[in-house]
Formats: sequence, structure tokens, C-alpha cells
Amino acid sequence: MHDTLPRLQQTDFPAITRHTLQIVQVNLGYLCNLSCSHCHVNAGPKRTELMDKATIDLVLDFVCKHNIHTLDLTGGAPEMNPHFKYLITKARELDVNVIDRCNLVILQEPGYEDIAEFLAANNVEIIASLPCYLEDNVDKQRGKGTFNASLVALKKLNTLGYGQPDSPLKLNLVFNPQGTNLPPEQNALEQAYKKYLQEHYGIVFNQLFALANLPIQRFGSMLISKGLFNDYLQLLKDNHREENLDRVMCRNTLSVDWQGYVYDCDFNQMLHLPLGSHGMATTHLSALINDSLKDATITVGQHCYGCTAGQGSSCGGALQPHNTALA
Ligand code: SF4
Ligand code: SF4
Repeated sequence: MHDTLPRLQQTDFPAITRHTLQIVQVNLGYLCNLSCSHCHVNAGPKRTELMDKATIDLVLDFVCKHNIHTLDLTGGAPEMNPHFKYLITKARELDVNVIDRCNLVILQEPGYEDIAEFLAANNVEIIASLPCYLEDNVDKQRGKGTFNASLVALKKLNTLGYGQPDSPLKLNLVFNPQGTNLPPEQNALEQAYKKYLQEHYGIVFNQLFALANLPIQRFGSMLISKGLFNDYLQLLKDNHREENLDRVMCRNTLSVDWQGYVYDCDFNQMLHLPLGSHGMATTHLSALINDSLKDATITVGQHCYGCTAGQGSSCGGALQPHNTALA
């Protein structure tokens, strides 16, 4: 795989600093039931990296001390971490909102059949990746049979109350473009997804998050192989919108890897770009327990234009609330 970092570190992206920390995004490990072609953490069934109980307790301690309102769980398949239920139970006792970034298929795997009920009982928000509403496209990206397994999981979640009007159980879906274009306008795409899934399968959900692909890891490497890296970066830069800068997710989110090391965002984690406030030193969560990150410098690179291009892109979807169209 081509290393994209040398092409990203020299940057003219504007300098930005942190606001109040509100969200901690935790990568519980790289073990996954799937091996998707687009996976930006190279997760799969043979990976053994998993966050241990001591680090999970440290995360809980940090969340408590910093008054964090949302814990965002990712992986791999976060459900495959043996301490997944423990972490959620404790976080909910602290009245912290929990998000599970779920690949849906895991909810059908042997040994995980009770996870959907557990998530519902603990009022955990589910953000599920469904890269397309067409079977061929999903199976191509995630493996044969994954589209149908995802539909079964979505129907089960709907039965439990997820995504239903007036239900507190939130079910949001994630879309990424398949090619080298920016995501289409989020609201229009959400309407298309809702119409198709309702009409064909009777499935409902709350919101669709349309995310841009950042030129890192496998996607970045593919761009280099095809000689498209500079063109894609130029597309992101040409569509940069200054007003998105204030809402990029690193302003209020901290990213923690499976060993407890911290980064300004998940993308910087994948690039091993250390936390901006601590120079070039790798920082562990334990060093930040009594440290406010407010106004701290954020480590930026050329990939950051992926967050500010067009309608903007973050873990919670477009940054422009009413999607004032792409440039
Ligand atoms: S489900 Fe997610 S974490 Fe697992 S291989 Fe696919 S993209 Fe990677
Ligand atoms: S890539 Fe990360 S550091 Fe850069 S703007 Fe986006 S969230 Fe912030």
C-alpha cells in the first residue's frame, strides 16, 4: 500500500484550535467479522488488536472527569471487543450518550444475536454503514451476502423501535461515494434512501450521513496507483468552504486508539499524526486526565480539506445544517 502521509504533511490548510471537548471516539480494536475493500483501518477476522479492560476503565475515568457527553465506539466491529457490554453499561450509568458504529452484519453472527436487544435496552444510538441501497454495490464492497444480512439486521432494529417515528432509539446510516467525487447533497440522498428502503423492504431510519472519502489509507493508496491523488486533492481544495472550519469534528472530539493513545481525529489516528497540542510526541490518554484541551492546537494536513469541501464532512455527516449545495 502506498504511504500517503508524505503527500499530506506539507499543508496550507488554515491553523485551527480546539473548542470544549464533548465527544470521545474510541477505537475498540481491529477485529471485525468483515474485511471490506474500502476499510480504512484494515480490520478483519484475523486481527488480534483489542482494547483491554484497564484501558477501558481509563476511558471511563476520563469521560467522568471531563464531563464528556458522548462516547462514540468504533473499530473493527466494536461489538467483538469482550468488554463492549461492560463499557456501555458503565457509560450509561454515568448518563453518557453512547454511539455504536455498527456494520449491521455482526448482529446476525453466532454469539452476537443478543447485541441488538442489549443496545436497545441501553438506549445506544446506532450509526450503521450502508454504502448503497443496491445489493450489488454493497456486496462488492463488503463481501457476498452482506447486503441481505444488513437488511435482516435493519428489520430487527426497526422491530425493537430503532428508527421509528417518536422512538428515542436512533438509527442513522452512513454513505460514502464509491469514486473520486464529493458526496451528493445529503438531504436529497437521504430522501432517496428513505424512499427506496421503505418501498422495497419496509425499513425506516432517522438520518443519512453523507461522508467524503479522505485521501488516506486504502483510498489514498488507490488514488496514487491510478495517478489521481493530486486531482482529488485539488477537487477538495477547490471546494473548500471557510464556514465549515468552525464545525470540523476535531474541534470538540478526541480520538483514542485501541492502546489508549490519543489523536485529534480518527483520520490523524490512521496517519499516526500525534495530537497537535503535544508537539510531535505520541500522547497517552492517561497523560490528559487532568488536562483541559480547550484552545489547544490541532494537527492539520492536506487531508483536512476533505472535512471542509462542499457541504463539509464529519462523523455526524454534512457540516452545513441545511446543505447549501455543493460548489
Ligand atoms: S465493517 Fe467496518 S471495520 Fe469492519 S472491515 Fe468493514 S469497514 Fe472495516
Ligand atoms: S481531518 Fe481531522 S484534523 Fe483535519 S479537519 Fe478533519 S477532523 Fe480536523
